[in-house]
Amino acid sequence: MGEKINIVGAGIFGLSLAVALRQRGYEVTVFDKNDYSQDEYKDFEVQAASVDQNKIFRASYGKKIHYQRLAMEAREKWEQLGNDLFVSSGMLRVQPTANLGALELETIANMRRDGLRDKLFIKGDKDDELRAKEARWHHKLLDVPIPDLDPSQSFAAVLDTTAGFTRSSEACLHYFKLAQGLGIPFVLGAEKGAFDSLIKVEYGGGGCRIQGIRTKDGVEHLSDKTVIAAGSFSTQLLPELSYHIESSGGSVARFKIDPKDTALWDKYSPAKFPVITWKSASRDAGGKDIGSIYVFPRTEEGIIKIGYRGVKYTHFQTAPEEASFSQEGQWSVPANRDVKPPQSAVDAIRYFVSIFLPEFTDVPFYSTKFCWYTDSLDNEFVIDYCPSYTDNSLFICTGGSGHGAKFLPVLGEHAADIFMHGDDAQTPLRSHWRWRSDAPRVNGLEEGPRGPRNLTGLARTG
Ligand SMILES: Cc1cc2nc3c(=O)[nH]c(=O)nc-3n(C[C@H](O)[C@H](O)[C@H](O)COP(=O)(O)OP(=O)(O)OC[C@H]3O[C@@H](n4cnc5c(N)ncnc54)[C@H](O)[C@@H]3O)c2cc1C
Repeated sequence: MGEKINIVGAGIFGLSLAVALRQRGYEVTVFDKNDYSQDEYKDFEVQAASVDQNKIFRASYGKKIHYQRLAMEAREKWEQLGNDLFVSSGMLRVQPTANLGALELETIANMRRDGLRDKLFIKGDKDDELRAKEARWHHKLLDVPIPDLDPSQSFAAVLDTTAGFTRSSEACLHYFKLAQGLGIPFVLGAEKGAFDSLIKVEYGGGGCRIQGIRTKDGVEHLSDKTVIAAGSFSTQLLPELSYHIESSGGSVARFKIDPKDTALWDKYSPAKFPVITWKSASRDAGGKDIGSIYVFPRTEEGIIKIGYRGVKYTHFQTAPEEASFSQEGQWSVPANRDVKPPQSAVDAIRYFVSIFLPEFTDVPFYSTKFCWYTDSLDNEFVIDYCPSYTDNSLFICTGGSGHGAKFLPVLGEHAADIFMHGDDAQTPLRSHWRWRSDAPRVNGLEEGPRGPRNLTGLARTG
């Protein structure tokens, strides 16, 4: 029998690691406060980033070639999984102006480096347009005129045919069942599955070992090792993470198309319409890409989802004493589900809709919500042992930073390598995902409660 491992969190990070560890002989148990055996990852009001109709799959990562390569590795696995969990709809990356932006040029250079240039079609490039026609992708190389420009010009755009979207909730359910099939028990629900506290054994000399977890129902679950994979709630379970990650809200709005409206139903189908991303603004003075917003083709239920990540909203609250790091005594954690995106987000989405989905300009949203990011210091994941505890008794697997979902089929493999071998792990991701208390607090995490993104004080839409 292998070592006994408790994993807290049955989202993408927890599921992927659970399966990989079980396949390596560990005796794994997964805990979650949501009862996914009941709702099968279909309750979209649940506060878990993984529970969602769709997430973008892309290998376009600018200079970050390690994620480009990881994404292509994941793509192969998605295709093997089948069941339409990955939909190769393509993604049109629309630029802020009529010229290709810096990030796009970096992406094209790295894709060329890995022999993927022929999967990209640059709008207006004669050879690429011709290739797109031959490859039957041309209908997705959409022309989007820049508003209010005289003489008229269109936004520069690149159609990336390596990209598309994953059906995130379906993929979670697939992994949930896969894990069950491997004999992994799930302890689920608001009492018996919800983490309450770590069971700590203090040693003389200051050492402390984690010996398991206590759930809200008071039951103690002993283990050799514990994994925290609780997404945007992770700091609240393990306050030592407070320097490393911050929760922020991504604004999501949905429209619903009636299948009887055959023109719209057809136009926005994955066969006809790509994922579209647009940066409403070029890089800021600090070189950071800003203003990002995206839309998916409609789902089988007719849902068109738009996500605005131009501003990731923080939600600062009083931090507990145990938090090893706070800003003016506060930290940003997920707000309750009834807190909706503020007016500034709605305005940005409406502007995007007026350009890219003109038929919906005056249509009320079907729904809006926040989906909570787990932002790290540098958008790299945090997958490593927590140095506060001895004997490698506490492992962390989080920090998805808005781009973790696409890696579901391979993330656990790389995380398990780190789990088993630490610094001797073979994965090239080891150095990127390590515990990094020496890294500066940038990426917006330096802003704190007085920063412009804090929801307190911003106009809400109800
Ligand atoms: C708005 C938005 C858009 C995104 N878009 C993309 C995209 O297009 N492409 C992409 O690749 N990635 C995307 N991501 C990122 C991706 O969704 C995340 O990286 C990934 O889903 C994180 O998975 P997770 O398992 O770490 O967290 P989660 O999915 O949040 O799962 C954490 C789990 O922990 C459980 N939990 C929390 N607290 C407790 C507790 N006390 N006790 C027990 N269980 C607990 C939760 O119930 C949950 O099930 C996006 C994220 C957001 C927020």
